[in-house]
Amino acid sequence: MTRVDRTYLDYNASAPLRPRAREVMLACLDRPGNASSVHAEGREARALIESARATIAELTGASPRGVIFTSGATEAANLALSPSLGDGGTAVEWLLAGAGEHPCVLAGHRFPPERTRTIPLTARGCVDLAELGRLLAGAPGCCLVAIQAANNETGVLQPVAEAAGLVHARGGLLVCDAVQAAGRVACDFATLGADALLLSAHKFGGPRGAGALVFRSAALHVGEPLIRGGGQEAGARAGTENVAAIAGFAAAAREAFEEADAEGQRLAALRDRLETTLAGAFADLVVFGAGAGRLPNTSSFALPGFSAETLLIALDLAGFAISSGSACSSGKVAASHVLAAMGVAPEIARGALRVSPGRATTENDVERFCATFEKTVRNMRARRARPVA
Ligand code: PLP
Repeated sequence: MTRVDRTYLDYNASAPLRPRAREVMLACLDRPGNASSVHAEGREARALIESARATIAELTGASPRGVIFTSGATEAANLALSPSLGDGGTAVEWLLAGAGEHPCVLAGHRFPPERTRTIPLTARGCVDLAELGRLLAGAPGCCLVAIQAANNETGVLQPVAEAAGLVHARGGLLVCDAVQAAGRVACDFATLGADALLLSAHKFGGPRGAGALVFRSAALHVGEPLIRGGGQEAGARAGTENVAAIAGFAAAAREAFEEADAEGQRLAALRDRLETTLAGAFADLVVFGAGAGRLPNTSSFALPGFSAETLLIALDLAGFAISSGSACSSGKVAASHVLAAMGVAPEIARGALRVSPGRATTENDVERFCATFEKTVRNMRARRARPVA
């Protein structure tokens, strides 16, 4: 059987490991130390972790003491989104979360249901700031607001800095899920104005299973950690640190953050080319979030009358790894809560596909993808038009 060449266009699901991250991780794996041990090997492991912490702090504009390493952004969200978050002052009473947040925020927080409210999205896929203002005004007590920097399905960039202004004026806190934005667009505290960021290494070429909760101010902390034990990560996250993953995370972050500008321009040109080509071939193509500022690498679209699953499978067989518009954690395509919140009709939303290229993607990959997509759709249309024998 001949093996079909693969073209990976699903960086928003997980990006390939960067060679530099791999190199750094392999070097760590050959070292024996536990970072809590006092001997030379332990001190070496500790130094690697603290160097990674300093890197993440520098890239985001935080103090190293504000960086808590976790198993990824899901854990960071579960840790941060708790009524026990604060600086010892006013207790947080409410959680306001964007309707298009990732499930790790929507299902991972630790607030009682009656203390949570959803911030609606506009038709373009941005959180509605007027609605946020109304929710803040109507919530008696301190609010914790969760707004992502960029949506994982549509790539739509969220008005985080404007939202932070509204939240801070009311004495609240803003946690920003920066998972998809990190290493793709400017993603630091000065730009976003947030109080805390959630990061995940594998979206920008670090290892899967590593991430961080980063506080702008070291005075912020979570009173109730999720994982208790030996007091690692200043008591915020117990358990022997995964030195290799943490070091790989920092190495990938360093490269991705530094490349973001140049790569962003290149990827935006590829995305525009993809959308122009497909829209030229199919006049009924719907591009989600097209009117909003978007991540340079993300295109989410549907062709009315075609289910995402059917196209996904056909394109996979032809060698292209893309995703359905909605996150599918168990291999099945679920309805997208993001597109629903944007008011997209369910019959259109069921066809949503996401193409998210990255650093290894070339113009040729995009051209071949477009040609294969066109051929696949035309073949399907021809089969449908054929009378049943
Ligand atoms: N937030 C967003 C926007 C994501 O896209 C993802 C992953 O898909 C996560 C959070 C969860 O990250 P992790 O895989 O590190 O748990």
